[in-house]
Amino acid sequence: MAEIRIEQVRKAYGANKVVHGVDLTFRSGEFVVILGPSGCGKSTLLRMIAGLEDISSGEIVIDDVVVNQLEPRERGCAMVFQNYALYPHMDVAANMGYALKVAGVPKDERDRRIKETARIVGLEDFLDRKPAQLSGGQRQRVAMGRAIIREPKVFLFDEPLSNLDAKLRVQMRVEIRRLHKRLSATSVFVTHDQVEAMTLADKLVVMYKGKVEQVGTPLEVYNKPRTRFVGSFIGSPAMNFLEGTFSADGANFVFDGIPIPVDPVIGKANAGRAAALGIRPEHARMVPVGTPGSIPATVDFIEELGAGRVIHSDINGSNFALSISDHVTGETGQSIALQLPFEHIHLFSHETDLRLDLAETTPVREKELVS
Ligand code: ADP
Ligand code: MG
Repeated sequence: MAEIRIEQVRKAYGANKVVHGVDLTFRSGEFVVILGPSGCGKSTLLRMIAGLEDISSGEIVIDDVVVNQLEPRERGCAMVFQNYALYPHMDVAANMGYALKVAGVPKDERDRRIKETARIVGLEDFLDRKPAQLSGGQRQRVAMGRAIIREPKVFLFDEPLSNLDAKLRVQMRVEIRRLHKRLSATSVFVTHDQVEAMTLADKLVVMYKGKVEQVGTPLEVYNKPRTRFVGSFIGSPAMNFLEGTFSADGANFVFDGIPIPVDPVIGKANAGRAAALGIRPEHARMVPVGTPGSIPATVDFIEELGAGRVIHSDINGSNFALSISDHVTGETGQSIALQLPFEHIHLFSHETDLRLDLAETTPVREKELVS
């Protein structure tokens, strides 16, 4: 078991700053997912933990030991990569046992651990196959076996499922979670896939442009996104945003001349100011056209998903998506009206993109947030 502390960690490649002072603490045994768009610095951060990349400034501490100067193999971390990185000329057993061989573990002990690991990852019958004779999912299992066999304190996963097809990805996700339950080593899993992140994480870290935007449980992050970016990045279809201004008395957010009632505490504190209103597609409601306070929209097209459907509509040139479970018939150009329930409205500052009722987000240590 291992606790990881990341303190004011920065990384620059020459003049290009890619990680801007990250503070995070991962508790022993926790499954942490780092989620963010491509290029936001996830792999760089993970590679700095592993020791595969130098740290420009700051400290990484594993179990109270500053590891900045330690070699990768001295850190007790095992990493699983997206491209598996298997040795093509070695069979499964040799691939899994390689690190033990290098470490001088005697052959009988090695064979015992290869067998045991193969059982855990479900590859007992494939030990003498070469990687080229395996499916993508089996190769990914070899890569995981190779990590497990070293009995690391920490597992680091860099988008390990991204090369698999959709069905296998879901299956491997379940297997990784099951494996974590069994081994309970601290795990840090990097992905750009929000569904993977929501389903795997005990603790979710959302990164954007080299900074941490929010830390919380998946539901905390979903229910109270700390920034407009987090609101827009998590959830599918994505959160809708309306640009407007709070009324002078603070009771409403006024969009296109339509007053939308909002939390008066937020409204009063921001009276007269411009802001963005966010609402998730599953939280907006369709009401009869002409209902007072409703927003008129026109149907663009309806996306049928089997279990539900998404109405893509247009409000004065902006897209607005609405998820519903009932069957509807509608056609392009049809007029509809939308209502935005008070309790599901998210309000973000126009200037900073921060949530306006920020005090209500998860009380993460200030240090864990953006520097
Ligand atoms: P992510 O994993 O979130 O997609 P990365 O950590 O790989 O992002 O990259 C973050 C940024 O750092 C990107 O802009 C990328 O181009 C840059 N970068 C990554 N590795 C190097 C490198 N070895 N040299 C220069 N720039 C790099
Ligand atoms: Mg990456």
